[in-house]
Amino acid sequence: MNKGFLIDMDGVIYGGNHLISGADKFISALQKRNIPFLFLTNNSQRTPRDVVIKLSGLGIEVEEDNVFTSAIATGWFLARLKPEGTAYVLGEGGLINSLHEHGYALVTQNPDFVVVGEGRNFTLEMVNHAVDMILDGAKLIATNLDPSPKTKGWTNLGIKSVVAMIEEATGVKAFSVGKPSPVMMRVARKKLGLETVNTTIIGDTMDTDILGGIQMGYRTILTLSGVSKRSDLKSYAFAPDLIVNTVDELDLDEWLEGPSSFLQEQAGRNSKLVVQN
Ligand SMILES: [Mg+2]
Repeated sequence: MNKGFLIDMDGVIYGGNHLISGADKFISALQKRNIPFLFLTNNSQRTPRDVVIKLSGLGIEVEEDNVFTSAIATGWFLARLKPEGTAYVLGEGGLINSLHEHGYALVTQNPDFVVVGEGRNFTLEMVNHAVDMILDGAKLIATNLDPSPKTKGWTNLGIKSVVAMIEEATGVKAFSVGKPSPVMMRVARKKLGLETVNTTIIGDTMDTDILGGIQMGYRTILTLSGVSKRSDLKSYAFAPDLIVNTVDELDLDEWLEGPSSFLQEQAGRNSKLVVQN
């Protein structure tokens, strides 16, 4: 049975524009052994092609098919919720591209959905316009709700801040599609054709990658090369299956032969709990 990986990028493969030590070797080991993997990112600005080019610049050669963004997940989700709908977008290329590819028309009046992604190019006037649309009945969707870094010099006015502004102004809560939402976590696994128990997620963030993995019953690996630090773990009621400093520390043979997911182990101990994949 195939085992494979969902791999977060920022904080696992690269930090900003720098390759994280050994990440290229890890990916080429997966490729040499034909182990299925999918890069999973909540960043909705880039298209898969943009991501492929960025990774290539860091010495990692992959196909567009290896990339799954919250923008793709959002397009997929909306196309099923309301086929051939309309959207007003506060976001950039990756999101706009995905909505078009999933049969959506972008409009500036009476949209079915206001869709918020990462972006630096929309204005407060556009946000105001979006607020009026929601008050008129448009539904509010966020590609993700990644928290702002709260570190000087970063993009602190990130997606969660913008969504918070709209939620306050409308009294409406956004539905978020990206990690840790089961929407994105599940579609990613299906795209790889893996069973739940054979899926591992590798990420640097407890609140998105690890939480999302645990909720889905995947095996989870936290890398300390990004957002979450070892000292943060004590404030969480859940924990990853494995912690590594960088992704190339992972012993692939040991991991692939290791026990299946947390939920599966629990099921083995308790005959009343049967976990279906
Ligand atoms: Mg990350």
